Amino acid sequence: MGKFVMVQENGRTTIGAPDKLFGVSSLAKARIAEIGKEKVFDSTIGALMDDEGELIVLSSVVDVLKNLAPKDYAAYAPISGVPAYLEAVKTAVFEDIETKGFVEACHAPGGTGALRNAISCYTQMGDSILTSDWHWGPYKVICAEQQRKVTTYTLFDEEGKFNQASFAEKLNGLLEVQDQVLMIINTPAHNPTGYTFTLEDWDKVNEVLLSVSPEKNIILVVDIAYLDFAGDAMEYRQFMKKLMDYPENILPMYAFSASKGFTMYGMRCGALVCVAPTAEIAKEFKDATSVASRASWSNGNRAAMETIARIFNDAELKAKVTAERTEYVNMLRRRGAAFTEAADQVGLKACPFDSGFFITIPFESVDFAEAVGKELQKYEVFAVVLGAGVRVSIASLSEEKCKKVPELIVKAMEAVRG
Ligand code: PLP
Repeated sequence: MGKFVMVQENGRTTIGAPDKLFGVSSLAKARIAEIGKEKVFDSTIGALMDDEGELIVLSSVVDVLKNLAPKDYAAYAPISGVPAYLEAVKTAVFEDIETKGFVEACHAPGGTGALRNAISCYTQMGDSILTSDWHWGPYKVICAEQQRKVTTYTLFDEEGKFNQASFAEKLNGLLEVQDQVLMIINTPAHNPTGYTFTLEDWDKVNEVLLSVSPEKNIILVVDIAYLDFAGDAMEYRQFMKKLMDYPENILPMYAFSASKGFTMYGMRCGALVCVAPTAEIAKEFKDATSVASRASWSNGNRAAMETIARIFNDAELKAKVTAERTEYVNMLRRRGAAFTEAADQVGLKACPFDSGFFITIPFESVDFAEAVGKELQKYEVFAVVLGAGVRVSIASLSEEKCKKVPELIVKAMEAVRG
């Protein structure tokens, strides 16, 4: 018998484990109730909040949603998604970047669903996927649930640059025991560090991928959850050009999410998009992902799909959404700059940050990070401890608060060191 009365664990090693994020976020909420939100730095939230701590919702998106007819939301959607949505998603991902090969998309409930389908369809039970040491926690949970494992390479070298050597070593190690390896690269505006792979980093990735034997397959999944909150839309899509000319053994995919870019977090809307080198590989993608969707959540949220389709079918509407979002992207970038400038002033070293919702401070050990995370709470700063680091959500702190946090982290570090 297993360790549960009736539940079968099947790789789900975190059943019953305390939810760290929920724990620290509840503490922050309790403090807000006691002393007021002005005095509390709740940097646990993975959603964009205004300076008063309220969730930002794009009003241009809400307007479209409110104008839907009942059949637009009451009817079932096709399993792989409403056709107009799937077309819209291709534009949402690539915008003006010219695609080559065969582009296919399958709806999924958020980026999470897209990643789940990619792992389910392109890895076998017992396989390991590859990602960086700093990564979004649910990758592991999604893999474990499907009885897959996660192997990590060290993202940064000593100079804080993409660590090509570690990437190559870990990938080649996996290729010795697997004929196919799926990897997840979360860029731009990586969670939890805010790092963005530069065009030179992509050249280094490609140098390694192109040295792989053509007998072995690579599934390169780019997790673009924060793409629309990184900065200039076209600048942050330039890397996609470097993922268009692969040989037939390399299949690039994008895990698209409408959660952040369209503030549809709760509506669960995303897609897995592939740029297949052959029609056969594209057909396989479509056939396999629709079965995987059928077996897990069946059809997706039609209202969300209709909303995205309408936005992309109406230039004026799309411009309105973009303009509204740009204001918030600029606000987020100001918060990032405020934090990094203040960190420089007090000599606090963060992971290389470019853009996005999060900044992470790396420490020498998990214990030290845990202790700093606890100590910070004495100064009313609530942040999530991830491995040997503390992740600060600048998405949920005002610019003024972003200026103050680095000094408080230094204070907490000094207190822990004693
Ligand atoms: N990938 C990363 C790195 C994320 O941080 C998130 C959300 O926080 C997602 C994917 C997927 O989000 P959703 O399933 O809400 O689209």
